[in-house]
Amino acid sequence: MPLSIEELRPRFHGEVVGPHEDTYEDVRRVFPGNIDRRPAAIVQVADAEDVAEALAVARESGLPLAVRCGGHSGAGHGTNDGGIVLDVRGLKSLEIDVDGRTAWAGSGLTAAEYTAAVGEHGLATGFGDTGSVGVGGITLNGGIGFLVRKFGMTIDNLLAAEVVTADGQVLRVDAESHPDLFWAIRGGGGNFGVVTKFQFRLHELGDFVGGMLMQPATPEVIAGVIALTESAPQELSAIVNVMTAPPMPFVPEELHGTLVVMTLLGYAGPAAEAEAVLGPLRALATPIADFIRPMAYAEMFPPADESYRPSAVGETMLLGTVDGQVIDTVFKQLTESDAPFRVVQLRPLGGAMAQVPADATAFAHRDAGFMVNLAAFYTTPEDRIVRQTWVTAFREALEQGDARAYVGFLNDEGEERVRAAYPGATWERLAQVKRRYDPDNLFRLNQNIPPA
Ligand SMILES: Cc1cc2nc3c(=O)[nH]c(=O)nc-3n(C[C@H](O)[C@H](O)[C@H](O)COP(=O)(O)OP(=O)(O)OC[C@H]3O[C@@H](n4cnc5c(N)ncnc54)[C@H](O)[C@@H]3O)c2cc1C
Repeated sequence: MPLSIEELRPRFHGEVVGPHEDTYEDVRRVFPGNIDRRPAAIVQVADAEDVAEALAVARESGLPLAVRCGGHSGAGHGTNDGGIVLDVRGLKSLEIDVDGRTAWAGSGLTAAEYTAAVGEHGLATGFGDTGSVGVGGITLNGGIGFLVRKFGMTIDNLLAAEVVTADGQVLRVDAESHPDLFWAIRGGGGNFGVVTKFQFRLHELGDFVGGMLMQPATPEVIAGVIALTESAPQELSAIVNVMTAPPMPFVPEELHGTLVVMTLLGYAGPAAEAEAVLGPLRALATPIADFIRPMAYAEMFPPADESYRPSAVGETMLLGTVDGQVIDTVFKQLTESDAPFRVVQLRPLGGAMAQVPADATAFAHRDAGFMVNLAAFYTTPEDRIVRQTWVTAFREALEQGDARAYVGFLNDEGEERVRAAYPGATWERLAQVKRRYDPDNLFRLNQNIPPA
């Protein structure tokens, strides 16, 4: 049944944007540069009632339904062709209980918006490495960022949520109320309902040291950075990027395109204490750039350049260790590829994240030592095939036994890869919860867990 935007409009408190609206091009755009889809209607929900109504329209029409927040899904799950997009970006309420150390946050906030607002009170909840990512998407996936070793994943700091289920019910979900659903939304993605708001735990975060250090890449430097960041106190969370140096103003021209180690890090503690790690890190090789300094945590999310929308192929995995063999493979693969931009991201995990029992949330890979993301940019469809083949072979060369993944970085890779995010018992339990709350799989445009 074709949708009439005029007939839909009076059913909502928020706006409904169709292909003939001036704002359509802007509103339909998502982060990945290779995703260019044209939904029939984008419903900019204003409240939980609007969400329930949009779900009713999806059920009545039988059209595909996408739930969209920050638009960063690499698979483009936040949009579709010819269907309905339920856009939560208007849900930006934020109630901060400074004394109680909690906040109720609208699911449409970005990580940067939330972080800046709670940061005014010297408080923080950890998300990822990018401020423009939506609180909705990253929280439901798990959330691994610059505070992960200090305070755990985002889901480890989720206390409650308001969820609109496939049948339009508005549920308050926490450890006591619908505990099965509360377990599933902590890592199970958008499979179980539309979250309108989240209640997060806030942590006091005074002193913080963060930023970026770039050094020339050799196997020795990579090994040194890994050893230091892996063994550092849990105050340190780091993202070690081995990559081709971008043509940025602070990189000397003769180094553009050469292999560098770009370490992004956050140290949740005083500068003097951070120095015990930073001193040896800087001593590994003369820095090409050194932007690490004491700062407010919210400064880790500088304003985003909205025109930056790369077309990339990427694969993700979780590893037990990054040893000499892994480093040799990383160095060899990056040296041999000719993709103009190619990167391996090595993220040491552990700390508070590893202290949560594997069955406490739907993210079960608590014992993983590292998250590894591999990516290359591409230009043409032919180039895409070459780069994708490289990335897949690279990941397979790095696997250590059972393939394991973090769902937040999966692209459109099929059921086997979704299962890599959810080991046996977790998958079965998620499929049961799915059957209970979404038996018809209305929410299927996601890293899908079909109902049991
Ligand atoms: C540049 C970049 C950097 C990233 N860095 C990190 C990182 O450091 N750490 C990390 O953990 N992840 C990271 N990610 C992965 C990111 O967390 C996921 O892609 C996430 O899904 C993006 O959320 P979004 O709201 O921006 O995306 P969207 O595309 O808007 O949403 C993705 C999916 O999430 C679900 N969803 C979103 N909001 C809701 C809601 N309110 N209710 C129900 N379902 C919802 C839907 O299924 C939706 O299709 C990064 C991604 C990118 C592109």
